[in-house]
Amino acid sequence: MASLLTDSFGRAVTYLRLSVTDRCDMRCLYCMAENMTFLPREDMLGGEEMQRVAEAFIRSGVRRIRLTGGEPLVRHETLPLIRRLGAWLDRPEGMPGLDEITLTTNGSRLRDNAGALYEAGVRRINVSLDSLRPERFREITRRGNLDQVLDGIRAAREAGLALRINTVAMAGTNDDETDELIRYCGKIGADLCLIETMPMGETGDDRRNRYLPLTELRRDLETRWTLEPLTWRTGGPARYVRVGETGRRLGFITPLTHNFCEGCNRVRLSCTGRLYTCLGQEDGGDLRAVLRAGGSDQDLLAAIGEAIRHKPRGHDFVLDRDTDVISGPQRHMSVTGG
Ligand code: SAM
Ligand code: SF4
Repeated sequence: MASLLTDSFGRAVTYLRLSVTDRCDMRCLYCMAENMTFLPREDMLGGEEMQRVAEAFIRSGVRRIRLTGGEPLVRHETLPLIRRLGAWLDRPEGMPGLDEITLTTNGSRLRDNAGALYEAGVRRINVSLDSLRPERFREITRRGNLDQVLDGIRAAREAGLALRINTVAMAGTNDDETDELIRYCGKIGADLCLIETMPMGETGDDRRNRYLPLTELRRDLETRWTLEPLTWRTGGPARYVRVGETGRRLGFITPLTHNFCEGCNRVRLSCTGRLYTCLGQEDGGDLRAVLRAGGSDQDLLAAIGEAIRHKPRGHDFVLDRDTDVISGPQRHMSVTGG
């Protein structure tokens, strides 16, 4: 089924990212402040409200949903929601339905949830992992436990979930570990995706000191690894190469050194029901207001359609070490999900 959701630049929206909570059991340096104030629970969409919005998107042509956060697995409604959305998988050709449901997680609760995720229909997940060194891992996440995450990754593999490891590459922080991460991913049969730090929300840490242009890192990797460019894409912003020595894919997400908006097929729903049509802008719509005013499915579809017609051409993040210019949305990544 073609997407009924096409923006004014002709981009069809087929991918929804659903942030199911702003809460998290970690406080990564680049993502959250140490003392985060989380949203009142009543501001967050309930499980049924999230389902209703997700189903409105599916009926309009969205084919993929990724649950994210905050940490999606800290919310008890997450698994039941995935189970209910799982009913939209494997629908007959030409009918509204989902090709996949995926999840981005910090892995802290993966050990206990991996099997249930697979049973609910998830086949592929992204796990964030910025370091393989316990102390450094704790410094970056401010409270994470590396062993717990590695156990979770093992459980995910045993459950049959395909894995992509996401690493935010930071100058002077973990940029000396990329080789180890490439080897680790080769060993466990996972893809690896390197991400540039994006200026989103105050975290109490000066991101300029950690900003690392991935073009630099890639040039450095090329001196030791055989990186074969791939045309393979997930419809997302990552550009991939294959690492000859491991056979695994290595992705680069470079919002600051490369504008990836021209093929953008996605929108994001915050845990409060605010629709963001661009990660780096404020444009969107308030779907919670429609739901809580007793709006019909038709009203919901109208609000979604209206927001998507105004989807911005692209983001304009700036993070410049030399000129000290830093600009991006005030909201944290955990509000809209990565
Ligand atoms: N808690 C889950 C996790 O960490 O995977 C899901 C949510 S987290 C916001 C999603 C992704 O966004 C993670 O891979 C994280 O590394 C990334 N992220 C968060 N803040 C970021 C920032 N300011 N710049 C770049 N990536 C960021
Ligand atoms: Fe939590 Fe994920 Fe943000 Fe880290 S990146 S603080 S794990 S939401």
